[in-house]
Amino acid sequence: LLRAEGVRKSFGALEVLKGIDLEVRQGQVVSLIGASGSGKTTFLRCVNMLEEHDAGDILLDGEPIGYRMDGSRRRRLSEAKVSAQRARIGMVFQSFNLFPHLTAEENVMLGLTKVLGKSKAEAREIAGHWLGKVGLEARRGHYPYQLSGGQQQRVAIARAVAMDPRLLLFDEVTSALDPELVAEVLGVMKALAESGMTMLVVSHEMLFVRDVSHHVVFMDEGKVAQSGAPSEVFDRPDSERLQKFLGRFH
Ligand code: ATP
Repeated sequence: LLRAEGVRKSFGALEVLKGIDLEVRQGQVVSLIGASGSGKTTFLRCVNMLEEHDAGDILLDGEPIGYRMDGSRRRRLSEAKVSAQRARIGMVFQSFNLFPHLTAEENVMLGLTKVLGKSKAEAREIAGHWLGKVGLEARRGHYPYQLSGGQQQRVAIARAVAMDPRLLLFDEVTSALDPELVAEVLGVMKALAESGMTMLVVSHEMLFVRDVSHHVVFMDEGKVAQSGAPSEVFDRPDSERLQKFLGRFH
């Protein structure tokens, strides 16, 4: 469903991604782990076209993301085409990013009406369904400031899934939460994974990563240093750097 080949990205002289190869199959959960600064967030942002990668390919359902090939040259797609591609990829951020002046329900409805062109009635029904799935049916009329961090993040997840994306990206979505609120968000993510949602997850919650992922990718200094089934990566780290990284979580 998603395939990255030789993806490179620099910010000025700093090369952050040095040729990333990675695949996410339909229905799979693939997790990116690695030290701060290893390029995990930058990679997700390239997949979601929040950053433009310098070289390599990112294909969603076989189609390049953000550009098309004109002979051997890459041509940027129009904003309208980029928006259409982006609608197929949902993203949940560390910092919730809810609209503060909209209720939980309105936050979920907005993309449904504005991007997918659904009627208000239909959008409200879909929003109700997904807010129910994340355990927030009773809070649909609440504004973000009336919700805990964990509840806000669950609204953000409901908003992303309601768009019926092909792929959902999660960028350290529990990092900003108080420890007692982490489990409720991970629970929602686990249920989504079990429902067959295709997910690419950046997380420092190693127990969750191990429990839920089909495939784990350890990134180190802009490269994929090791990848494989959770049991391989966690039980048979093939580098000292991965051993050291995992050691921090014991
Ligand atoms: P973390 O776990 O801290 O989020 P990460 O593995 O996700 O780390 P990135 O956020 O991808 O790492 O950052 C990789 C490197 O790229 C860092 O050194 C960061 O400072 C740098 N970087 C990221 N975005 C930009 C930017 N817009 N301009 C310049 N440098 C950037």
